[in-house]
Amino acid sequence: MSQETQAARLERLARLPLRDNLRGLKPYGAPQLDAPVLLNVNENTHGVPSDARRAIMRAVERSLTELNRYPDREFTELRESLARYLGHGLSADNIWAANGSNEVLQQILQAFGGPARTVLSFPPTYSMYPLLASGTNTEYLSGERASDFSLSAVSAAEQVAAAAPQLVILCSPNNPTGTALDLEVVRAVYQASEAAQSIVIVDEAYAEFAHPGTPSALTLLPGRERLIVSRTMSKAFALAGARLGYLAAAPEVTDALRLVRLPYHLSALTQATAVAALEHSESLQANVEDIKRQRDRIVDGLRALGLQPAPSDANFVFFSGVQNPGKIWQGLLDAGVLIRDVGIPGSLRVTAGTEQETTAFLENMERLLAAEGR
Ligand SMILES: *Cc1c(COP(=O)(O)O)cnc(C)c1O
Repeated sequence: MSQETQAARLERLARLPLRDNLRGLKPYGAPQLDAPVLLNVNENTHGVPSDARRAIMRAVERSLTELNRYPDREFTELRESLARYLGHGLSADNIWAANGSNEVLQQILQAFGGPARTVLSFPPTYSMYPLLASGTNTEYLSGERASDFSLSAVSAAEQVAAAAPQLVILCSPNNPTGTALDLEVVRAVYQASEAAQSIVIVDEAYAEFAHPGTPSALTLLPGRERLIVSRTMSKAFALAGARLGYLAAAPEVTDALRLVRLPYHLSALTQATAVAALEHSESLQANVEDIKRQRDRIVDGLRALGLQPAPSDANFVFFSGVQNPGKIWQGLLDAGVLIRDVGIPGSLRVTAGTEQETTAFLENMERLLAAEGR
């Protein structure tokens, strides 16, 4: 759009009876540029393995014969598959799903947030949390992290106790910084939320990429009826395009979400796709292992170049020590490699690619830093 038409559109938008808390907001905006090497939105760069792809095709084809009917509103088979995949003694009663974990989080905010209610999170964190808050008219409270972006149990618990929010969102591993939270933090936050009876959400979108021995907040669910662990098939399962996110929680939490979900919100095609992919979680796991190797190559490679990559339990690496992030970002894009400028001074974020893509990123970084005289 030209500058003038854009200004005119903004003016026309301002005349609409938009809710006050939405005025002046910008939509979620990771640039969808076309580049040969896309390492900007933490997608699974390895794609869906061929055996899983064939199984998905067969399952979707089977579902076509009943496409004139509404799908199973309770997506029972999918909830059973997800419970089996997660383990930890969970059953279908503990599971809920929606079109991406973004929709899962939106439904949680629709049920437990809203006008005169607050949700506390700890920036820098996932940029969708404030947008989901404004979309549901929930006030977003920004908690604080240490200067190295870490979050201690003591500090987190103090902030939760002081804010007494209706909801807390902890992201682990945190996006954009990549580091997993110690479960001590989740325990302390849950305990501090007793007084306000807050819902505590742990967003584990990247859990499958964690280093061995990193425990999941799923282990904390027994006895904590206000704890929700959110997961997605967008990252480890390489299904970002299929839109399937889910959560594990006490059964009464899923009952609350039934009150706000749209009827038949999960299409028959989505349900068939997800169930078939879950039956092939082992071949997907092999790709996850390679992505972890590429992630570790990025951490080692950037460190060798004199930068400061944060420890990563995810499929991406956040790194600091960049003198001119905008220039490096553009230089990489000119070379066909798209990464993410998350707007934190001196820092950039890159998704782990295939071996070739990762090599292209590292070689171009070396070249660009050398050109800067480092
Ligand atoms: C990618 C990501 C998600 C996944 O969102 P979907 O809607 O499931 O695709 C959720 N949380 C975080 C922190 C993410 O980075």
